[in-house]
Amino acid sequence: MRVLVVGSGAREHAILLALAQDPGVTALACAPGNAGTASVAEQRGLDVVDPAAVTALAGSWRADLVVIGPEVPLVAGVADAVRAAGIACFGPSADAARIEGSKAFAKDVMAAAGVSTAGCEIVDNPAHLDAALDRFTPPYVVKDDGLAAGKGVVVTPDRDLARAHAMTLLDGGHPVLLEAFLDGPEASLFCFVDGGTVVPLLPAQDFKRVGDDDSGPNTGGMGAYAPLPWASPDLADALVESVVAPVAREMVARGNPFSGLLYAGLALTSNGPSVIEFNCRFGDPETQAVLALLRTPLAGLLHATATGTLAQVPALEWAEGAAVTVVVAAEGYPGTPRVGDPIRGADGDGVLHAGTRRRDDGAVVSSGGRVLSVVGTGADLAAARDDAYRRLDTVHLAGSHHRTDIALRAVRGEITVPSLE
Ligand code: AMP
Repeated sequence: MRVLVVGSGAREHAILLALAQDPGVTALACAPGNAGTASVAEQRGLDVVDPAAVTALAGSWRADLVVIGPEVPLVAGVADAVRAAGIACFGPSADAARIEGSKAFAKDVMAAAGVSTAGCEIVDNPAHLDAALDRFTPPYVVKDDGLAAGKGVVVTPDRDLARAHAMTLLDGGHPVLLEAFLDGPEASLFCFVDGGTVVPLLPAQDFKRVGDDDSGPNTGGMGAYAPLPWASPDLADALVESVVAPVAREMVARGNPFSGLLYAGLALTSNGPSVIEFNCRFGDPETQAVLALLRTPLAGLLHATATGTLAQVPALEWAEGAAVTVVVAAEGYPGTPRVGDPIRGADGDGVLHAGTRRRDDGAVVSSGGRVLSVVGTGADLAAARDDAYRRLDTVHLAGSHHRTDIALRAVRGEITVPSLE
């Protein structure tokens, strides 16, 4: 199988490394990729949001399967175009990708499917903002209704800050979603979904805030670990039954069946699991941890999902133990990152690339906000965490920053799921 992966993050690097181990894969390409993916796959330049360009590349490269990593091309209809050209594609249609692309659409699907999620209100007129804020209690949750790369959300007890963020979004022409605050540990559950068939991967947890102890602004994600030692072993199956399968069935009923990776971001509250968001693709950085543990060959799974034969796939196999990933971010991230700095140790084992490129002189330099994801594995979460930070010590990027507390509270046994009220 010739597999073309579209994207350029550490998520795509992790997907490529897993595909490279699959004996069924005969050739791998990545477009546009980065300095790290170039060592696993052929590289091609590509405007990933141009459906005609992606389809043309998939055709000329003779791809048997196209795997679309990021959400923006999916929302733009790239998967529809690739499939229309008769090439198998892992990723949902533009209509189904609205589960991520429009929070209002996601809320509507969840309401129809009877799935628990935070109560919310959409504000598109600044004149209605204050009255709407009055209907919520702190902490306030203010989101961009559209795609914002994980950075459109502000959660704050400070009403003035919440109001200011909402006004910035409204001034930019973006409708604002105000949401009730969900209390409880968060879990990310990835599921392969082909219409009505749902196959869960290991639950993971990610770290959205830029600083230790969840301080500072939200980011695309600063680290993750899997599985969740504090969760019950049947968490994934329970979430499939109460959350993911009902949503998948509702999408089928609407004539928008979901095909690809459906990612449920949840808070495990004292009223039970409640959805924070759905994403229509693998999450970054959770993918880097989850795929480090997957033993079932990945290409077969992605192809089965893309071709509607997931029901015939045997149970997934996982390595024992745990995986932890820590993101190395450029100075300035999640604001404007400093780019162009040389990276030392970028070719180490377990070092996945995101915002990197190779200069003409051969040096690997930073080219984005999240620069690397360092992945460690071990017999348990403590060992995996030690392994990740040991590998991270071998990497050097001037001005970079990373969190030092990824998975720390879980290792210390400080995370508990509230008992149901
Ligand atoms: P999102 O981009 O929707 O995943 O939100 C980013 C992060 O903001 C989440 O991972 C949560 O940590 C936080 N968040 C979003 N919505 C809520 C909510 N309703 N209650 C509590 N925290 C939230």
